[in-house]
Amino acid sequence: MIIDFHTHPFVDENTNICSHKNYCNMTADNTFNNLKALGVVKICGSVIKLPFDKNADTWQQLKNANDIALGLKEKYGDFYQVGFHVHPDYVKESIDEIERMSKLGVKIVGELVPYLHGWSDYSCKAFGEIIEAAAHYNMLISFHSMDNDQMDKMVSEHKDAIFVAAHPGEYEDFMRHLARMKMSENYYLDLSGYGIFRHGMLRRGIDKMGVERFLFGSDYPTCNPAMYIGGVAEDFTLTAEEKQAVLYDNAARLLKL
Ligand SMILES: [Zn+2]
Repeated sequence: MIIDFHTHPFVDENTNICSHKNYCNMTADNTFNNLKALGVVKICGSVIKLPFDKNADTWQQLKNANDIALGLKEKYGDFYQVGFHVHPDYVKESIDEIERMSKLGVKIVGELVPYLHGWSDYSCKAFGEIIEAAAHYNMLISFHSMDNDQMDKMVSEHKDAIFVAAHPGEYEDFMRHLARMKMSENYYLDLSGYGIFRHGMLRRGIDKMGVERFLFGSDYPTCNPAMYIGGVAEDFTLTAEEKQAVLYDNAARLLKL
């Protein structure tokens, strides 16, 4: 059984962020069976609506994507853990959204994708206020990895917040993720996107920081989940217990399942 901590579920053309979607026959309906066939029993993450219109109301667009996520939750039930967007230009709205989502039982902020939504600094004061609110409601904060120094500042200033960074990246970025795990015991890394294809990367991370810090993620539908599952399940440097922890147990523990 696998929990995919990093996905972007979709309802239509505008929310399916796969670049090759016209060739994949993916729908909101067949997502469940397609992933279940790979052993995935739960997906987590935010809905991303494209194109993002920089001239239209930013918050309204994010709220709209968040509402689509809640609609998908109705459809998928236990299969889906909602993730939602916040934005440092909209601190009050973001904190209100955290409160609204918390009442609905939602546990994940993000994946946040600032590069798509017109912001860029995780270490800014406004985002810090949003982090404090998310921490207050015990939410996990899933975020797209960006500038390493800004991420260092964010993590060192918010040691109570539970962060799940997305994408190990290449060597230097991965080593910075490991260093950040030393700054806060509440810092985790999901394996989606760049990085896991480098052999020994995950083995090194587990040896240095412990297996509990790594969560399986694929970034479906923009990445091929089969490749990421293989990257963990077929990695001969990992023990069966370690695979189980990364593929399921660590996410289950953080999500309090
Ligand atoms: Zn990302």
